[in-house]
Amino acid sequence: MKLLLHTCCGPCFLGSWAYVSEFEVTNFFYNPNIQPEEEYRLRFENLKKAAKGKSVGILERPYNPQEHVDAISNDRSFPSRCISCYALRLEETAEQAKEMGFDAFSTTLLVSPYQLHGKLKDLGISLSEKFGVDFFYRDFRPNFRKGQALSKEMNIYRQRYCGCLLSKEAVQ
Ligand code: SF4
Repeated sequence: MKLLLHTCCGPCFLGSWAYVSEFEVTNFFYNPNIQPEEEYRLRFENLKKAAKGKSVGILERPYNPQEHVDAISNDRSFPSRCISCYALRLEETAEQAKEMGFDAFSTTLLVSPYQLHGKLKDLGISLSEKFGVDFFYRDFRPNFRKGQALSKEMNIYRQRYCGCLLSKEAVQ
């Protein structure tokens, strides 16, 4: 199965890998939510480092944080902004999966106990119906700690905040 895997960062990729390694995986790094740009570049470079030696492709959409600013502009409170943020990233993933002839799409966000797992699952299912491409769903969360531990071993950068400036401010 050819899988387009929306990928948010190296540690989440490593945590998700056991669930998708049997497939022909292409990582799709579409994360306009990440700010500032240096942080975005750091996460992308560390995804490449995490994927080294694995038989996976990596695609990047040009970085445009304004896409995320616009997507959450109606309601920047939690959890509305996060649901809009997921919709932005997963809709693009589903659309690209359909256009590029993938069999299915999924997201490494499913590994994080800090994300709204049920919302991600529901969104994936509804986008699958909208675009006519399968959503590969598994609960990746049992491997979250493993992904963090592997990242530590491999010296992969592990971020302290989710991605947007609001989440950055929350940990300062
Ligand atoms: S906290 Fe994370 S999921 Fe929520 S809007 Fe910010 S980057 Fe997106």
